[in-house]
Amino acid sequence: MQILPFDDRKGLIWFNGDYIEWSNAKVHVLNHGLHYGSCVFEGLRIYEGQIFKLNEHIQRLYKSASILDLEIPYNEEIVIDVCKKITRKQNVKNGYIRPVVWRGSEMMAISALEASTNLAIACWEWPSYFSPEKLLKGIKLTVSKWKRPSPESAPTDSKAAGLYMICSLSKHKAEKAGFDDALMLDYRGYIAEATGANIFFVKDKEIFTPKPDCFLNGITRQTVIEIAKENKIKVNEDYFKFDFLKSCSEVFLTGTAVEITPVKSIDNFVFEKRDLTKLLISEFKKRVGG
Ligand code: PMP
Repeated sequence: MQILPFDDRKGLIWFNGDYIEWSNAKVHVLNHGLHYGSCVFEGLRIYEGQIFKLNEHIQRLYKSASILDLEIPYNEEIVIDVCKKITRKQNVKNGYIRPVVWRGSEMMAISALEASTNLAIACWEWPSYFSPEKLLKGIKLTVSKWKRPSPESAPTDSKAAGLYMICSLSKHKAEKAGFDDALMLDYRGYIAEATGANIFFVKDKEIFTPKPDCFLNGITRQTVIEIAKENKIKVNEDYFKFDFLKSCSEVFLTGTAVEITPVKSIDNFVFEKRDLTKLLISEFKKRVGG
């Protein structure tokens, strides 16, 4: 299958206030976001033309930017409106929206207090992240050598591009070794999350998930917790060492991209059951309306 490169597609991208041709949405090679990681972004899913949790994602975009000392020069209502408009202009039914904020090219040094803050929003048709066969079987994870940093070492509450460096390294290594993704522990050695998704465990018909104190409290994660509680399933947020996996019957990931994805194995631990995972997937589908 030929993959269309992302810089050469048809359509429009909203770029600092204007809808411009997709292939013209360019930045200069000397921009601060690229060199020094002053860049944050969001990922939203569109189900049957409706954007899931639009307000929550845009609020998080502003929070992420503010943590990196980036002041988005448009108000939230405008950005929310642009997300709706770009979905219609691109005629996307089931897809993805990617807003990205970056510091501009006016200054090229670690300190760039006077540089501009830029915003672009792109939108495209995008099916499930994993194939349906893969989804049914569950994905295979391996533990990464990279650890999620402490909130004292990195702005862990921000969806900052720079924080994805160790995620790409982890996922590349996992894929090269035949796995689908990597499980990341945190700086204390507790289970944290996958490279772009939160993680949940099932044990004795209860749900367990790591406390998000050094990684994103995902919007999908929060939705799944809400669904579980509504279905009278007990949810335990706590700290888990790796050997907690020994006692788990089901494991799944949650995230805008992966939605709810069953995990078949994490290195030598295998999880065959899907009872609660399937229930949550079906309730989640009702919510998103897809
Ligand atoms: N953790 C990381 C590192 C992520 O990239 C994502 C995806 N945004 C998540 C968790 C899940 O967040 P959400 O459910 O809001 O997409």
